[in-house]
Amino acid sequence: MSGLCGTDYRIWTGDRPVAYPLVLGHEFVGMVEAVGADVARVRVGERVAVEPNYSCGVCPLCREGNRNLCLKRTAVGIDVDGCFAELASVPERCCWPAPTGVSDDDLMVTEPLAVVVRAVAKAAIRPGESAAVVGGGTLGLLALQVLKAHGARVLVVSRTARRFDLARELGAAATHALGDEPLEAAASRFAGREGVDVVIETAGTAEAVAQSLATVRPGGRVVLTGLPHEPTPVAFFSVVRREVTISGSMIYQDEFPEAMRLIQTGAVRTRPLVTHRFDLDAIVAAFAAHELADSIKVAVRCP
Ligand SMILES: [Zn+2]
Ligand SMILES: [Zn+2]
Repeated sequence: MSGLCGTDYRIWTGDRPVAYPLVLGHEFVGMVEAVGADVARVRVGERVAVEPNYSCGVCPLCREGNRNLCLKRTAVGIDVDGCFAELASVPERCCWPAPTGVSDDDLMVTEPLAVVVRAVAKAAIRPGESAAVVGGGTLGLLALQVLKAHGARVLVVSRTARRFDLARELGAAATHALGDEPLEAAASRFAGREGVDVVIETAGTAEAVAQSLATVRPGGRVVLTGLPHEPTPVAFFSVVRREVTISGSMIYQDEFPEAMRLIQTGAVRTRPLVTHRFDLDAIVAAFAAHELADSIKVAVRCP
């Protein structure tokens, strides 16, 4: 079972060039069909969630524990063949045995969940703090739930109100559609002070970065998970003047077990995010569905 995301879509449209031919797909859970000679971590027949990035293991970044930043990192489904296929081949260290009693449907979202587990850890959120999530897509709706699991009150900020009913169902204390009223005012009202303590940005646009800075209080923390492809003007005057901490958070490195634990305990609900399902041979329709307004996460069933 695989999830389809914006990265897959950009490769599919040609927006993001890769070395062709390439089998796409990087968000997946599956059954181990065969293992190499020295594999000890997983057994044939075991269900695993796949961490679709692996580092070189020998560079200074890898050796000092920054393997998510490795410049020779290999991304499954981007640099090498991925999971939109009957069989996929990955190194054993990418395989995390799945907890029992959790369906493939739920575990399929482990990869994007691991991204926000890391981001929320970087924000060092404390119980009782106020937080905002910028972006109402898969990452935003997952970040909301992880923040809530850490005891934060969460405001969801999005361009449209389309996902707000779902955001509230998943635990958002408040929602704000851009354009309703100035974001600063909405954030202050929500936090009961000058802004929220923590912002997790998940939209990956220049505007989302500006919105994150408008939402956070002086002395607050902003963690960026999106990768804006356009120039991103930042008012550093306000960053310095207000001593805002801005951190980047890049994918994950040890977050898969925690992501699976959050799914297993029900602290994070993934099922409501899966809005569309297709069989592998209907992959063209799956890509089309990714672009629909009501689409959050599209699932692809690989036989
Ligand atoms: Zn993805
Ligand atoms: Zn490395």
